[in-house]
Amino acid sequence: MTHAPITTPLTFTTERNTHSLPAAEREAILADPGFGKYFTDHMVSIDWSRQEGWTNARVLPYGPLLMDPASSVLHYGQEIFEGMKVYRHPDDSLWTFRPEANGTRLNLSAQRLALPQLPVGDFIESLRQLIAVDGPWVPSGHDMSLYLRPFMIANESFLGVRAAEKVSYLVIASPAGPYFASGVKPVSIWLSTEYSRAGRGGTGAAKCGGNYASSLLPQQEAAANGCQQVLFLDAVTREYIDELGGMNVFFVKKDGTLLTPNLNGNILHGVTRASIIQLAKDRGVAVEERPITITEWKDGVASGDIVETFACGTAAVITPINVLKGPGFEVGDPEAPAGEFTMSIREELTDIHHGRRPDRHGWLTRLDA
Ligand SMILES: *Cc1c(COP(=O)(O)O)cnc(C)c1O
Repeated sequence: MTHAPITTPLTFTTERNTHSLPAAEREAILADPGFGKYFTDHMVSIDWSRQEGWTNARVLPYGPLLMDPASSVLHYGQEIFEGMKVYRHPDDSLWTFRPEANGTRLNLSAQRLALPQLPVGDFIESLRQLIAVDGPWVPSGHDMSLYLRPFMIANESFLGVRAAEKVSYLVIASPAGPYFASGVKPVSIWLSTEYSRAGRGGTGAAKCGGNYASSLLPQQEAAANGCQQVLFLDAVTREYIDELGGMNVFFVKKDGTLLTPNLNGNILHGVTRASIIQLAKDRGVAVEERPITITEWKDGVASGDIVETFACGTAAVITPINVLKGPGFEVGDPEAPAGEFTMSIREELTDIHHGRRPDRHGWLTRLDA
């Protein structure tokens, strides 16, 4: 009989990076960071073992991990991650958006991937600890942020197939510029008819690296067909819309109704998705979360019943869609600008993120105090 480790909040130690980037070089990066290219001076690392639970919570200089080639994540892909952003408000305070939702989802993913639960309080504290030393890396400016990437990996040197008994949780951070550098531009979507991202009982609702690995080939197919993103259907009937490779999808109907696939067990519980639904309801917009067929989308665009389509996720916030393409068909207008609702809900959400509008739902958490 094993005892569950006693969970008191973790205490972190901090080892300062003595080779942190000089301020002038950091500022040069922050002026045009792109996405996912540069990393801050520090990272968070916490160890877990079946015997001891979570231990050794620390902030340390950013750098390579020393791993045994037999480390289980390298062989069986037992890995999960999160994605969130830190925003610099006009008064220079630093905030993140609904971190308890990401912490809860991390544990949902952990459950599915047979990884240990990390208390949400420790999860949020890990972000605070990183920002305490890397706060200067949070850019200021429109649509600028510091992207946080918490992740958990199996890290036991063992080739047997079972859940690892040693795990590492890490947080790295990367400054991010506006996703649409030259203004928000609608994208075209490729309908994958050959591949699925998730099947019933699979890992579709978990944010795990494996889902992304399997989406890369269909994503290449999308690019080869002149599209920026790929849309996946349900694996059983291939009739129902699930989501894009890394974004949830929404439709606006002619009568103003907002439509999105329900959380069917195969799609990611997007925090952006949930927030858009709430903001739409606040506006008095009718929101339908239900199964949506690909035929409903195609016919709706053709008949004018669907007037706007967009995708959403933390990285790009909201991405307008103006074309749906697949083998032998294309609907929509490649010249069509982003829809009115799409852009106004995008502005409302990004204004809340950046502290330009009241946070009436208490979605923001301050990280630097
Ligand atoms: C992360 C992710 C999303 C978006 O989730 P947010 O919480 O809004 O960032 C949507 N779909 C998939 C597959 C994802 O991995």
